[in-house]
Amino acid sequence: MKKENQTKQSEVQSQKSEVKEEVKQSEVQSQKSEVKEEVEQSEVQSQKSEVKEVVKEVVKEGVKVEKPAEKKAEVAKEEVQGSKPKAQSPEAVKEEKTDEAKPAKVVETRLTARAQAEKDKLDSWKPRTELGRAVRSGDVTNMSEALSFGKKVLEPEIVDLLLPNIESDLMLIGQAKGKFGGGQRRIFKQTQKKTAEGNVPSFTTLAVVGNKDGYVGLGMAGSKETVPARDKAIRNAKLRLIKIRRSCGSWACGCGTYHSIPFRVTGKCGSVRITLLPAPKGTGLCVEKECQKLLKLAGIKDVWSQTFGSTKTKSNLVTACFEALKQLMEIKLPAKTELKIIDGALNDKQ
Ligand SMILES: [Zn+2]
Repeated sequence: MKKENQTKQSEVQSQKSEVKEEVKQSEVQSQKSEVKEEVEQSEVQSQKSEVKEVVKEVVKEGVKVEKPAEKKAEVAKEEVQGSKPKAQSPEAVKEEKTDEAKPAKVVETRLTARAQAEKDKLDSWKPRTELGRAVRSGDVTNMSEALSFGKKVLEPEIVDLLLPNIESDLMLIGQAKGKFGGGQRRIFKQTQKKTAEGNVPSFTTLAVVGNKDGYVGLGMAGSKETVPARDKAIRNAKLRLIKIRRSCGSWACGCGTYHSIPFRVTGKCGSVRITLLPAPKGTGLCVEKECQKLLKLAGIKDVWSQTFGSTKTKSNLVTACFEALKQLMEIKLPAKTELKIIDGALNDKQ
């Protein structure tokens, strides 16, 4: 029975991986082909129009072409001088151009096309919440105002609009199955539900988002597939964005810049407890690696730490670290402090 189960599982896994690869390939191909088509169309159109203009100019002005129209003008000039028919010239130019300048251009335009698509998506966003409408209309202009608005952030587009340089990362909370060095850390925690039809797997992941300048969020989500799980986790992280407090809280440093935390904070999740302590400049992040990702995206550069409990449960450890960061804003400060303390981003009004 055990053997049968194992073989079944391995079959299922291999099938899954094949399917995933196919899906990924097809997605990538479709994206590529779309981008290529767009690029080609735009190139062809622009070239056509340019060539036409150049040819017209040449015809009008005779042989005088002093405008900086580069090669096209020269080519067109030569062709006009050589008394070739007009209809051939655009095609010839087109072929030359596309052969020479395609590979570099395609890469550039693919990136810009993706950025453009995201921007278009954001531009066409119609807010449904009060806070969303306030952000859209320009009443709320930065993240600090949005968080103290008195309403929950229920739309991730709010964060996208207010923090355009936000970055995301995924935590290694799962492990790979199998022999020969299995148990390696993975970003997806794979679990299975037993049903009459068979095993139904699901993938869970933990995402962190931040602008490396005082704002950070943590979100967890699961799904039957990996890609939607990741998207949902990033979305949840944006909805759970918090503002943190930074300072030089170290007695050994006292430089007055905002490289560390102002005081010791502790967070708890499950059996895990983590204490973050201010450290002098140049210390780096003396924390577990997944917590480093979190603190880096929060904009903290130097910190010492102490942990207790089952810290190999990474999801609990990271959540505890996030809770500790939350504590930074919970502590009440005296009206006048000697420490230079900053809430949120450097550009926010204090
Ligand atoms: Zn310092």
